[in-house]
Amino acid sequence: MKLSSKNLNERLETVYDAIVVGGGMGGLSAAIYLARYGLKCLVIEKGKGRSLWMQDLRNYVGLDPHTPGRDILNHATKTSLDWGADHLRGYVEEVTDEGETFAVKVKVGKKDSIYPIFRSKYVVAASGIIDHLPQLEDMQNVYDYAGYTLHVCMICDGFDMWDQKAVLIANTEGQIGAAFVLNWFTPYISVLTHGLCSVSDAMKQKLADHGYPLYEAPIAKFHGENHKLSGVELTDGTIVEATTGLVGMGSIYHNQYLKGIEGLEWDGQSLVTNDMCKTSHDRIFALGDLKKGLNQVSIAVADGTLAATQIWRNIRRASEPRKWEE
Ligand code: FAD
Ligand code: FAD
Ligand code: FAD
Repeated sequence: MKLSSKNLNERLETVYDAIVVGGGMGGLSAAIYLARYGLKCLVIEKGKGRSLWMQDLRNYVGLDPHTPGRDILNHATKTSLDWGADHLRGYVEEVTDEGETFAVKVKVGKKDSIYPIFRSKYVVAASGIIDHLPQLEDMQNVYDYAGYTLHVCMICDGFDMWDQKAVLIANTEGQIGAAFVLNWFTPYISVLTHGLCSVSDAMKQKLADHGYPLYEAPIAKFHGENHKLSGVELTDGTIVEATTGLVGMGSIYHNQYLKGIEGLEWDGQSLVTNDMCKTSHDRIFALGDLKKGLNQVSIAVADGTLAATQIWRNIRRASEPRKWEE
C-alpha cells in the first residue's frame, strides 16, 4: 500500500518484519524479495537519490543501455507495491534499537512536516551515497552535464570516454590519482582542481611526465549544448577543451540515521557486511553503495536478494511450521 500523511496512521501499530531505508536499486530489490517471501515490509524513500540522476544504465544484463534510472525506480516501486510491500515518501532521521524491534523516525513532508515512528524487526540500510559536484553559482549549468557527458563513475562510463579529451575534476591530491586509472580509457586528460586543493611538486611532476595539464583556477562555467560538453571555462579566462569529464570529488554517505546504533562496524563511511549483507548488528543489513564494495546497480540488486533471503531464513526458522490441519 502507498502510504502518505493521510493514511500512515493505519500502520503505526504494525510491527514490520523489515523496514527498508531507501527505495533505490538495492532497496527495491530487497522489497520485491521480502514481499514475495510473504514478509511485511515498508520502503521509505526520500526522493532525489543517486540512481534517479543516472541517465543511462550502461552495463546491466538484458536492459537497453539507454535505460534511465528513473524508469527502473518507477517500475520496481510499482512491482513491490503489487506484491504487497508498503511504500512511503519520507526522510529517515533516526533509527533506535529497542531490543526486539527498531523504532524508525521519519520526517514526512518538507513543509509542515510530521514525524511518525514505525517499528520493525529488521532494518535494511539501502540509502546509498550522493556524489559531490563542483559548486558553481549557477548549479543548473552543472546539472545540464552531470550524468550525461560529465560522469561520476569510471566503471559505469569510462568506456563512453574512450580516447576523448576529458577533464578530471578532483578536490584532493588523492582524487587526482584517478588520472592514472582513467588513462586506461583515454590519455587526453586535463586535471582541474577548481581551486579546492594544493598540489605537491611530486604530483605536478608525475602529471607532467604523463603529459596531463593541471589547471588550478576555479571553474566559471561549462560549455556545450544538449548535455554534450565542449569545454570548461575557468575564472582566469582559460578555456579547457573537453567533450567529456569525470567528477572525482568524493561523496556524501546517507548513513546519519545509523550513527546512534552501538556495535556497527564501519570502514570509513562504509558499513562492513558479511556475504549475506548482514552488518555486525544481527538485525541490520546494508546494501549497495552504502556498504563496502563496488558501486554498481548489479551489486545493489544482488545485495537486496541476499539480505531479504537471510531475513526470511531467520524469521522462518524461528516460526512454527505450518501443518495441514482441517
Ligand atoms: P541508490 O540507488 O542511490 O538508492 C538509495 C536511495 O536511498 C536513494 O533513492 C535515496 O533517495 C534514498 N535515501 C537516502 N537517504 C535516505 C533517508 N535518510 N531516508 C530515506 N531515503 C533515503 N551503476 C551501474 O551499475 N551502471 C551505470 O551505468 C551507472 N551509471 C551511473 C551514472 C550516474 C550519473 C550515477 C550518479 C550513478 C551511476 N551508477 C551506475 C551507480 C548506481 O546508480 C549506484 O551504484 C546504485 O544506484 C546503488 O544502489 P543503492 O541501492 O545502493 O543506492
Ligand atoms: P536531500 O539530502 O535529499 O534532503 C535535504 C533535507 O531535506 C534532508 O536532510 C531532510 O531533512 C529533508 N528531506 C529530503 N527529502 C525529504 C522528504 N521526502 N520528506 C521530508 N523531508 C525531506 N539535483 C537537482 O536538483 N537537479 C539535477 O539536475 C541534479 N542532477 C544531478 C546529477 C548528478 C550526476 C548527481 C550526482 C546529482 C544531481 N543532483 C541534481 C542532486 C543534487 O546534487 C542534490 O544531491 C540533490 O538535489 C539533493 O536534494 P536535496 O537538497 O533535497 O537534499
Ligand atoms: P544459466 O543462465 O543457466 O547459464 C549457463 C549457460 O551455460 C546455459 O545457457 C548453458 O546452456 C551453458 N552451458 C552449460 N554447460 C556448457 C558447456 N560445457 N559449454 C557451453 N555452454 C554450456 N531465477 C530468478 O532469479 N528468478 C526467477 O523467477 C527464476 N525462475 C526460474 C524458472 C525456471 C523454470 C528455471 C529453470 C530457473 C529459474 N530461475 C529464476 C533461476 C535462474 O534461471 C538461474 O539462477 C540463472 O539463470 C543462473 O544464471 P547462470 O549464469 O549461473 O546460469
